[in-house]
Amino acid sequence: MKISSRVQALSESITLKLNSKAVALAKEGRTIYNLTAGQLPFRPHKDLVNGIIEESKFLSSFQYSPVAGVSETRETALKRFKSSRNIDQLPESSELSCIISNGAKHGLTNVLATILNPKDEVIVIAPYWLSYPQLIQLWGGKMVTVYAGRHNGFIPLVEEIEQKISKKTKAILINSPNNPTGVYYDKKWMSSFATMLEKYPEVVIISDEIYYDLNYFDPKPSYFYQVKPELLDRTIILDGISKNLACTGLRIGYTFATNDLIKSLVRLQGQTTSSANSLMQNALIHMDEPRIDEFLSPIKNHLRKNSETLRQKIFEFNLGDAYYQTNGAFYFVLDLSKTPYFTNLSQSNSDDVSVMICEKILEATGVAIIPLTDFGIKNAARLSLVLSERELIEALDLLFRFLTKK
Ligand code: PLP
Repeated sequence: MKISSRVQALSESITLKLNSKAVALAKEGRTIYNLTAGQLPFRPHKDLVNGIIEESKFLSSFQYSPVAGVSETRETALKRFKSSRNIDQLPESSELSCIISNGAKHGLTNVLATILNPKDEVIVIAPYWLSYPQLIQLWGGKMVTVYAGRHNGFIPLVEEIEQKISKKTKAILINSPNNPTGVYYDKKWMSSFATMLEKYPEVVIISDEIYYDLNYFDPKPSYFYQVKPELLDRTIILDGISKNLACTGLRIGYTFATNDLIKSLVRLQGQTTSSANSLMQNALIHMDEPRIDEFLSPIKNHLRKNSETLRQKIFEFNLGDAYYQTNGAFYFVLDLSKTPYFTNLSQSNSDDVSVMICEKILEATGVAIIPLTDFGIKNAARLSLVLSERELIEALDLLFRFLTKK
């Protein structure tokens, strides 16, 4: 059967290839340290698990919900969004609403399908989450990248974003806290971003906040619309439960935007996937803000500790050139080009050999990390910080010993 050119253009995931290699090695009896995880390795809060059991007693949990989602769950999500971002007092014109989808990725798919016309440009900050270019392309858009370098702690320059804005720009997509860099942009950055955006009233801002709750240093992440709430009239926020409630498999995502846009998203979702899963939506009514905070408190301590362990190990192995401070999500981007292993390859930094290096690392040490080729950065790999401290130390010792071997 001939596959559509749209789908043929989608790339296959390098991560999956590496993961299957890791699984094969584990089957051979090798000890594998999996630093590829994009999810927390914990069970969700017990009240959520009990809520699922409780709600499974009702027929409605097994039936379609309204396309936009169960109204109580939508209200709870919207209320929590506004209170956590300190935007309870919105100007009257900003009528925010919410649609529940099957994960934030589905939310983003809906959004891009709804706002993009062919050849519309979307400005994205590199390194970026690998699905952005794929989804933008799927809906006929064109991705325009702004590179945020490690020398600047992976924080993009607002002026560089502005330079990329043209008549073709439909949207700017930001992701803070960020996958894969593990950093979030501070208030000062958001403030200058907001000021810049005021000059371009036609530009839509998509703010992927799926990692909002996963921050482990004060102050918490802040956003441009907190500085200038009027920007909410053209902002679309993506959030969900995958990361903050450790529920990647239960597929619930929230999209917050103006009422008008939500209506269009509902039109699309009604014809494609209908509602998100009803049982989970009903169970989420049991999860209020204090419970989420209670669940995340030890996890944040764990991530903070692991980020400190990572820092110590990097300096212990004289890899300080590859260091920058993370503060959110649960990732770190390791600049492979700053390691003796890379130097010994006599490889030019303009060629990307990260896939080859990650394969070699896996074979030699059993440590699985993600090459960032598909994330828009060369000769770098993503390390996940969710392992136990002991496992992380063992993995980093093996990894850095390999990369610094003379
Ligand atoms: N946005 C970013 C930056 C992500 O890293 C992920 C998942 O890894 C998502 C969105 C998608 O989350 P969900 O599981 O809710 O679809």
